[in-house]
Amino acid sequence: MRTLLSHAWVLTMDDEGTMFRDGYVLIDDGTILETGASSPSVDADLTVDCKGGILLPGFINLHCHAAMIPFRTMGDDCPDRLRRFLFPLENEALTPHLVYLAAKYACLEMLLAGITTFVDMYYFEDRVAEACLETGIRGYLGETVISQPSPSARTDQEGLSLTRQFIRSLSGEKMVHAIVAPHGTTTVSAEVLRSCSDLSQSYEIPLTLHAAEMDYEMASFAEKGTTPVMFLDGLTAVHPYLLAAHCIHLSQQDISVLAHKGASVAHCIGSNAKAGKGVSPVSDIFKAGVPFGFGTDGPSSGNTLSLFDQMRLFAVSQKTKYHDRSLFPAKDIVYAATRGGARCLHLENCAGQIAPGYHADLVLVSLDGPHMFPVYNPYSALVYAANASDVSMVITDGKIRVRDHCLTDFDLLKVRSDLYKAMGAFMHSAEQYRDII
Ligand SMILES: [Zn+2]
Repeated sequence: MRTLLSHAWVLTMDDEGTMFRDGYVLIDDGTILETGASSPSVDADLTVDCKGGILLPGFINLHCHAAMIPFRTMGDDCPDRLRRFLFPLENEALTPHLVYLAAKYACLEMLLAGITTFVDMYYFEDRVAEACLETGIRGYLGETVISQPSPSARTDQEGLSLTRQFIRSLSGEKMVHAIVAPHGTTTVSAEVLRSCSDLSQSYEIPLTLHAAEMDYEMASFAEKGTTPVMFLDGLTAVHPYLLAAHCIHLSQQDISVLAHKGASVAHCIGSNAKAGKGVSPVSDIFKAGVPFGFGTDGPSSGNTLSLFDQMRLFAVSQKTKYHDRSLFPAKDIVYAATRGGARCLHLENCAGQIAPGYHADLVLVSLDGPHMFPVYNPYSALVYAANASDVSMVITDGKIRVRDHCLTDFDLLKVRSDLYKAMGAFMHSAEQYRDII
C-alpha cells in the first residue's frame, strides 16, 4: 500500500539537516520510498494532507519500564523509594496479566506522544512484547536480571535463563526484539553481569542497565577505589552493545572508556532531576563522541512518557550546568531524540531519518496550538514549545496508529478501565505503604 503525506514541513534529520518547507513523504508499506520539496503526482492508495505540520522521524525512547503505570504518582517525593516500597510491592503484587495491561496502556500513551520505538526493561517481558505487537510500537525488550528474588524469577540464574528463552522466542520478529537487561551495577553479581554481557555480545544485541545513577552505588564503588563504569569495564561489559542508562556521575576516565569502547548512554534527565540525583555531564559525553539519546524512565520515575518533556529539560539543565546558552542548539536536541537514539541501538541505517529505504516510522506535530505560532525554527518549536498533545499523526511500519490526535485502533479509556479493574489486588497491597506514598 502506498501512502503519500503531503504539505508537511519535513525534517529529514540527514547529515546536511535537509528540510522541506512544503514537502512530502511517499511510503510503500513499511518503508519510505522518497521525500522531497513539492508533492509529486503519484498514484497513492491514501493521501494525507499534513496541513503544514512538522513531520519528522519517530522519537526513540531509550529507557523505560512501561508496565510501571500502576505506580505512577505513588511516593513521588519519597527518598530511597526503590528499596522502601518499589521492590517489595513489585514482588508482592505484580502479575503477568497486570504487566500486559499496563504495558499496553503505556505503549498507547507513547504512540500518542510520537514515540515509535522504545527500550524496556522489566519483568514478564514476554507480556510486554505482546502489548507491542498488538499496539504497533517497536520494542527493544529486556527481561530484568537481578540478584534477588523478583516477580518473574527466584534467582539471577533463572532471570538469565528467561532472557535466553526470550531471545530465542523473538528471533525473526520485525517489531519486537530481545535485549539483555541486568538491573544495575550493585543489584547484580559480577559473575552474572559478565554472563549478561557475554550473551549480548554473542547475539549482537543491546545490553542495558542502570549505571552511575545512585549515590549509594557511587559510594560503594568509591570504597573499593573504583567507579561503576570502570567496574563494568573490568568485566569486559563496556562495548558497542552497551547502552548505559543514566550515567549521572562520570569521571573523565569513565567518559573516555565509554568513548573508546564504543558504548552509548541513555540520558534520563526527567527522572534524574526529579529524584535530585544530579545532572549528567552530557556535554562532555557528547564531545568525547559517545552516542546518546533520551529515556523517559518508567512512569513512576519520570511520570510522563514523552520525549518532548525530556528535550526541554535536557536543554535547560545542560545550558544551566555549563553556563552556556549556545550549548546544544535545538536541532542537536531533536537529533538526539530521533537519530541519536537509532545510533545507540545500531539502527542508523534503517531508523531515525526520513530517507528512502528507512522505516516508515513518522510523527506529525501540528502547528495549530496557540503556543506553536510563529515558527521561525521548527527544531526550536519542538524543543521549547511543543507538547505530546501537539502530536497529530503517528505512523509505525507504514501504518497510521494515531490520526487527528486520536488512536486509530484503540479506545484509550477502555484500555484504562480494563487496567484499573485489574489493579485491585495491587492497590490493596499498596495500602501497607500508605504512610510513605
Ligand atoms: Zn530505570
